[in-house]
Amino acid sequence: MAQGEMPGPGSRPAVRLHRGEEEALRAGRRWVYRTEIAAVEGEPAPGDVVDVLTSRGRFAARGYYNPRSMLTVRLLTADPAERIDGAFFRRRLAAAWDYRRRVLAPESREACRVVFGEADFLPALIVDRFGDVLVLQTLALGIDRWKSEIVSALVELFAPRAIYERNDVPVRELEGLDQRRGLLYGELPPEVVIAEAGVRFAVDVAAGHKTGHFLDQRENRARLGALAAGARVLDAFCHNGGFGLHAACRGAERVLALDISEAAVAQAERNARLNGVAGRMEFRVANAFDELRRLERAGERFDIVVLDPPAFAKSRAAVAGAYRGYKEINLRAMRLLPPGGILVTCSCSHHMPEPLFLECVHEAARDAGRLLRVIERRGAAPDHPVLLGAEETFYLKCFFLEVR
Ligand code: SAH
Repeated sequence: MAQGEMPGPGSRPAVRLHRGEEEALRAGRRWVYRTEIAAVEGEPAPGDVVDVLTSRGRFAARGYYNPRSMLTVRLLTADPAERIDGAFFRRRLAAAWDYRRRVLAPESREACRVVFGEADFLPALIVDRFGDVLVLQTLALGIDRWKSEIVSALVELFAPRAIYERNDVPVRELEGLDQRRGLLYGELPPEVVIAEAGVRFAVDVAAGHKTGHFLDQRENRARLGALAAGARVLDAFCHNGGFGLHAACRGAERVLALDISEAAVAQAERNARLNGVAGRMEFRVANAFDELRRLERAGERFDIVVLDPPAFAKSRAAVAGAYRGYKEINLRAMRLLPPGGILVTCSCSHHMPEPLFLECVHEAARDAGRLLRVIERRGAAPDHPVLLGAEETFYLKCFFLEVR
């Protein structure tokens, strides 16, 4: 497009929607599904920016295109005059940071999610900040193309010591992208250590799960810490220490932390030593499904059990199996708790909507012959905002329940 030319309908490749399909986009959804497209105009290449037009040819939005993906267009802007270029990404990233500066306390901003994809109007882009190290994921072709502009903008905004790419995730293959990880900018310090409500975590940005640390549970972990004084705590999916570590640092009497991943348990043990609480924590590499049953048979009891498993339902088709999985671990956990005990139970699958998850946990309680009182109904920290209408952004559910 020539310099200064107004981008608008007709001036670039476009997809034309079937009648009425623009409504969901106006209501918040950030994706155009392949089945909603009536025609493709011009010849956009995979990854190109296209206009999204209503069935009558009116401008609805602008986004990036990949015919290979079911999510064929992901929206970038609803403003017909907005050009998609380096300056666009600088503005969007600055706005995302501005939001965190408004909603997070200064100490929380040191380790937070800077960009949460669709909910920050930057679809398929994730940026996590761990002090002066940023970790980036570009999970779709149309955003991957802008990686160097995004990196430059992040350098301007944060003057980080390093930007590390964790694109070693299978979803990239649905987009025709390879899996990769590595340094994009600067130099990784030998150790990345963050503080979370006074609890220190060494974060393995190069090899930990996802970006190395699950920032979405930050406030829920701190909340658990506040309830943990004197308690016997079981953290059944502990990753790098997570909930169990917060509990130990806030005076839990004893913490048993499990994870199926040996590397995660090693990192968790390291974090326990880093906080001087290793003496009150015990770690096991174990499958929680087996270990919960074994603990019950062995007559072990806890005052608090935390269940924060990985997403059991990775697709809509997997929901029935996931429901059985969630029910099983919740039922087992309830049997380890005395009356008045606390169950912290989470689901991070957006295919498992909150009412269904609560029904599942309730059903587990009925089978276990227990009653549940909801102490608190929580979700992801505010640096992972839910964009209403974009249902995938409402993924994390976390209930603090009292078991009777
Ligand atoms: N609670 C953690 C995050 C947990 S992520 C935090 O606050 O940071 C989910 C974890 O469950 C991963 O570390 C994964 O290795 C582990 N996991 C997956 N399947 C498991 C199983 N069957 N038993 C125990 N751990 C499992």
